[in-house]
Amino acid sequence: MPELAIDGGPPVRRTPLPYGRQTIETADLEAVQRCLQSGWLTTGPAVPDFESALADFTGAPHAVAVCNGTAALHTAYHALGVRPGDEVIVPALTFAATANAVLHAGATPVFADVDAETLLLDPACVERLVTPRTKAVVAVDYAGQPADYRRLREICDRRGLRLLADAAHSLGGDLDGRRVGTLADATTLSFHPVKHITTGEGGAVLFAEQAADRRARTFRNHGITTDHRERAEKGAFEYDMVELGYNYRLTDLQASLGSAQLARLPGWLERRRSLARAYDQALAGSAALRPLAVLPGARHAWHLYVVQLDLARLAVDRARVHRALHAEGIAANVHYRPVHLHSFYRERLGTKPGMCPVAEAAYPRLLSLPMFSGMTESDVADVAAAVAKIEEAYAA
Ligand SMILES: *Cc1c(COP(=O)(O)O)cnc(C)c1O
Repeated sequence: MPELAIDGGPPVRRTPLPYGRQTIETADLEAVQRCLQSGWLTTGPAVPDFESALADFTGAPHAVAVCNGTAALHTAYHALGVRPGDEVIVPALTFAATANAVLHAGATPVFADVDAETLLLDPACVERLVTPRTKAVVAVDYAGQPADYRRLREICDRRGLRLLADAAHSLGGDLDGRRVGTLADATTLSFHPVKHITTGEGGAVLFAEQAADRRARTFRNHGITTDHRERAEKGAFEYDMVELGYNYRLTDLQASLGSAQLARLPGWLERRRSLARAYDQALAGSAALRPLAVLPGARHAWHLYVVQLDLARLAVDRARVHRALHAEGIAANVHYRPVHLHSFYRERLGTKPGMCPVAEAAYPRLLSLPMFSGMTESDVADVAAAVAKIEEAYAA
């Protein structure tokens, strides 16, 4: 049996493979340089250009760019009418920002459990948590697979609730031929460097309705109804602040980078799908690692390639497997500790273990293997080789 790198043996890779990484090419450098020389660093034309490109790509009627994915969530909640006293149902298995932004909007997140096979928001659980105070339901397209928007739409329509999609993982995915961006009343995106396309920090909200789009534009600009460029074009100096908003604007530098990246997204999605197929094949014989289920009708966007460990077949825990993979040069990651188990939420909302048993049972078994547009099939083969070594050494 080959000696594990964690025990001093030779690692599978000498240069570590990260779990995610941006792709930056000449087109990106040129786009940002053109912007720097254009005279508009913020509130200029690159932002509406990026917004139109996002609307075209997703088929969403309206797109509003903001400074990060968390601001996108806050803006989406506000634009759809989430207010203090409201409850918003969120899945327990997500990045903390999905729930945090509910608190930023003055409302209360209510944690719902996920489906054991897909780890997507469980509609039956949502149904049980609806109260007279519930205003909205947020689904998270965990790992890049669209959530069950058919059943969620039906529940939201019947109960008079707004439906949101946190699509930070799923730009470019679709469900029954309907693209991410058109599956909910509002869809939020993140352009952090590990996501499908990057602007450094950045985000956007896609809306079905014009009225929500207008509220979002005011909200991201301090609550002021016109922006600097509109006033400059009209030669006007007067403006009116109609509500308390934020400075959540994306700069033109970032939007230029975003447009250059978005133009290459179709090729990158192909790459991610082909890497996922390579993982499926390479791990098909694994006794201890099981990929998540992909539902019929869903076209996965593969932000993450998540596997669940079968701990009964291993003599060690997930932390040890994670450390052993790092020693082999494979930087796996974990997404996510269920949000209701963080000490902040336990103190603030009194959440505790047992509230979302499926998410809690999944958490100690989750591993995200490397997945990014610059990866190759030979990188996947390295991951599979490291996994095979570790699985053999730690077989129960
Ligand atoms: C990345 C991410 C966010 C937040 O995006 P930022 O741009 O980092 O603020 C929100 N939700 C999920 C599920 C994410 O993965």
